[in-house]
Amino acid sequence: MDPFDSNSAERANLPRNMIENSMFEEEPDVVDLAKDSAAFPTFPALDPDEVVFEPRSSRLLVRGLGENEMDEDEEDCESSARLLGMSFMNRSTSHRPNSSPYTRQNPPRSCSRPSARTMVVCVLFLVIVASMTMVLYFLPGCTFTKAGCRRPNKTTPQETVYPIATNGELFPWAQFRLPHSIRPLSYNLTLCPDLDNMTFTGRTVINMYVLHNTKRIILHSDKLHFTKSTFKLGDGEASDVTILEYKPKQQIAVKLSAELKAGQYCVLTLDYTANLSHTYGGFYNSSYTDKDGNKSVLAATQFEPLSAREAFPCFDEPAFKATFLITINRKPNYITLSNMPLAKSTQLSGGLIQDEFEKTTVNMSTYLVAFIIANFTPISKNVSKTQVSVYSVPEKKEHTDYALETTSKLLEFYNNFFEIDYPLKKLDLVAIPDFLAGAMENWGLITFRETSLLVDKQSSPLEKQVVASVIAHELAHQWFGNLVTMSWWNDLWLNEGFATYMQYMSLQTVLPQLDIGNLFLAVRFRAMDKDALNSSHAVSTEVNTAEQVEEMFDSVSYEKGASILLMLNTSLPGDQQFRKGIIQYLKQFSGLNTDTDDLWNSLTQVEVSTQHQNVSEMMSSWTSQKGFPLVTVSRKGDQVTLTQEHFLLTSDNAIRTSSLWNIPVTYVNDRCSLAPECRQVFNLKTKTGTFKLPESVKWLKLNYRNTGFYIVHYGDEGWAALKDALSNNVSVLTHEDRAALIHNIFALSRLGRVSFNQVLTLLNYMSNETETTPVMEALLQLNSIYRLLDKRQEHGLAARMKNYILQSFGSLMDNQTWGEQESVSKQELRAALLEMACSLNQENCIQHAKAQFKQYIKSNGTLRIPGDLQRVVFTVAAQSDEDWETLLHMYEHATYDAEKRKMLQGLASTQNTRQLVWMLKAGLNGKNIQAQELPLVINTVINGFAGYLFVWDFVQENWDRLIEKFPLGSFAIQSIVKSATSQFSTQAHLDQVQGFFSGLKQRGSQMRSVQEALETIRLNLRWMDRNLPTLRKWL
Ligand SMILES: [Zn+2]
Repeated sequence: MDPFDSNSAERANLPRNMIENSMFEEEPDVVDLAKDSAAFPTFPALDPDEVVFEPRSSRLLVRGLGENEMDEDEEDCESSARLLGMSFMNRSTSHRPNSSPYTRQNPPRSCSRPSARTMVVCVLFLVIVASMTMVLYFLPGCTFTKAGCRRPNKTTPQETVYPIATNGELFPWAQFRLPHSIRPLSYNLTLCPDLDNMTFTGRTVINMYVLHNTKRIILHSDKLHFTKSTFKLGDGEASDVTILEYKPKQQIAVKLSAELKAGQYCVLTLDYTANLSHTYGGFYNSSYTDKDGNKSVLAATQFEPLSAREAFPCFDEPAFKATFLITINRKPNYITLSNMPLAKSTQLSGGLIQDEFEKTTVNMSTYLVAFIIANFTPISKNVSKTQVSVYSVPEKKEHTDYALETTSKLLEFYNNFFEIDYPLKKLDLVAIPDFLAGAMENWGLITFRETSLLVDKQSSPLEKQVVASVIAHELAHQWFGNLVTMSWWNDLWLNEGFATYMQYMSLQTVLPQLDIGNLFLAVRFRAMDKDALNSSHAVSTEVNTAEQVEEMFDSVSYEKGASILLMLNTSLPGDQQFRKGIIQYLKQFSGLNTDTDDLWNSLTQVEVSTQHQNVSEMMSSWTSQKGFPLVTVSRKGDQVTLTQEHFLLTSDNAIRTSSLWNIPVTYVNDRCSLAPECRQVFNLKTKTGTFKLPESVKWLKLNYRNTGFYIVHYGDEGWAALKDALSNNVSVLTHEDRAALIHNIFALSRLGRVSFNQVLTLLNYMSNETETTPVMEALLQLNSIYRLLDKRQEHGLAARMKNYILQSFGSLMDNQTWGEQESVSKQELRAALLEMACSLNQENCIQHAKAQFKQYIKSNGTLRIPGDLQRVVFTVAAQSDEDWETLLHMYEHATYDAEKRKMLQGLASTQNTRQLVWMLKAGLNGKNIQAQELPLVINTVINGFAGYLFVWDFVQENWDRLIEKFPLGSFAIQSIVKSATSQFSTQAHLDQVQGFFSGLKQRGSQMRSVQEALETIRLNLRWMDRNLPTLRKWL
């Protein structure tokens, strides 16, 4: 099923030169694009000529010096030139030697026995070539256009080589991205799903416009079997056409007999059959069993990023927006849903009903199309001009109220905030029993995992926080992503970074009782931890394969994207400039596609104060390079010097760059440190910068409330002053600032800039700390060290670390209550403290948890355990074999999903290896445990000593099945790779992990998450080597 598997198989069957050419197919020289590369006024961002990335030097030299132009003397000196680092003998691909390009087939003649004459000739030749190169390089009009620098009457060194279509003919396109000569205008889609046999038939009619003269129409299709294809030009007659298919790239081509002319309209009609997908992508089938044991089947869609092509043939790239008219046949016991409201239903022969939806009123990208055939029931409400409905399986209808209420509030908020009304007449939110992602923002038909949408009447505020933030995120997408869409996946952050930022921002205003700010702060810390790795990438980064598209759905696009928007918003003068800028951006590009610069330009254009800030200039340093800065503070009297450098945790294989960021550094000092008015700003654009302070200032705290995306090192004196200040009075800094100090000092210790003793010295102040964010950050950091020590079987040190944690937080742990708690922040704190206490076998905690579980069982589930305590209670229960069985039984019968997930985490924390193996297998088979929960199971099992090696073996043994279920590069696979290897800190494990992944070749060895996993193990190893002696001494 996975395209990469079929890809590799088909590649193996290609002739050798074809394989090589397909590796170089992004190079425009290989493929004749002349027809398609003319001016492209309406789609400028997509021009294929601009999508090419070859460094100037190598391509110029291929053109300037085709192989036929070399005479023998030149050839003789080729090896000398190579020694001098000149790669000008870069041959055409079909003549590339099989081994290294630097190994010659024939031994060089004259240069092998260099005589004085030869040396002179060689040197002269080199000088000539160097001069020619310079001339060619700087010659205007002789850069890399098609007309380029080819000499007339010479054979072109590279010929167009196309791949072979499934029918054996040449397939007329060899690139990953589609050509831009044809633009789809509208799709008419008719689908007849057969839920008894899990198949469907479809008819797709695509109306298209020809932008440039072309002989080909290329679009996407995956796993569709065409039964009839016709093509009609203008008002002419429709006639049959042949469809060529190239499966590795999921592309089809319409074989045309004559060239299409710019300005023509044409219609392609394709009839096809296909199976409903068994994965979580495309048009997939799913089923659920209700309380009475009745099984119901349903079909739903998940198209982002590359799966619309599995349901209908289409131009499946975000910039090819079009309108959609969707018709679906169903049996009477089902309902259908799609992006638009139902227009009419018609009775068909054979007992079927045909539902036709209204044509979309907006142009839409293919990944946002959605439809569902199920027996769900809704609750609805009108919010201004929109009917909002929440759908679930019938027996969970009572869990939908909170979602409806929250959606209504947020929809009103966004309508006002963006000053653009939500454009559709209806908005459905649907909880789907089988769903891999958290939710998907399909326009007008947002789909969710049940845990992200359904809330029990008695749910805790923390559970409501999860649901509200997912809804807030998906609603923000209706503007950011749906109305204005990134041109290509390289700028995915324009969708995801924005929706993530808006989710926190809107909830702070609409539902302040959810304390969402704490979560956003923690999210920013974790985004930095990941971005500090060499394997990270720029926010806006090149994307050229399906796997790379999947990989963009990561913490850089989401959390770092959101973090830099927060930094921008808090550094702009006036609190309205950000909002006005995004309103302008949304209005200007409504219905269109954009790239990152369009956003910065809109924000720069809006001026609300005389303090003009060039947003483009500032923000491009944050989106175009990976990582973030470390700002080091040094102070001499009244003078403060700030120095910036790249905060890069591992220098192994790293290309050191002189990265500079445009940093809006904020700071407060001991005279004024809490209120927003205390905040002062210094723009650090260069490597170092200085400013003055009154001499009497005792200490400085930079990055006020951690709204900036950088880490600060205060030097020995600076840290000591801050530690003293906090020891005297915890409240001299905001809780965000205290949490940030803890995060930053652990990060600096990992970087090797401060000793672990300094970390412990700062933590001394914590005996007076009671706020959620600093305590949670310290617990998280200490816990991760404790777990590594445990896995390395450093039993003595692990025991000392345990004592240290209990000493520092024991009284806070003991002070926690076990009853219902209304404050989200207090719930978060309590859950973190008690989970830690129980995992360290603190008797008081264990007894409370056991007692709660007993009462819960006795009451037959009617007596509720507070939501924030469920995980700790179930985890303690699962340590006894008998209670584990009881919990499993309850898990299998539970209907409320938030609780069910916590039971699952409890079950997965068992230390009984038989049970662990059963759970991993059950998650993979998807029978007792849904496969969508497998990443969570793995992530939990890995924490325990019994499970971490099992997980690694499991991943290795079942790799092929895993990538069948979850696409390569997808968020689920990223999570599995990273958690399965996160607990290793020895060379032996590093070698093993490296060996396994490098052996996978195209089955995953190139994934960024693999690099991240290897880097993390190296870091763990290094940290242990450096700090074990300190720990032995100081703990
Ligand atoms: Zn999103």
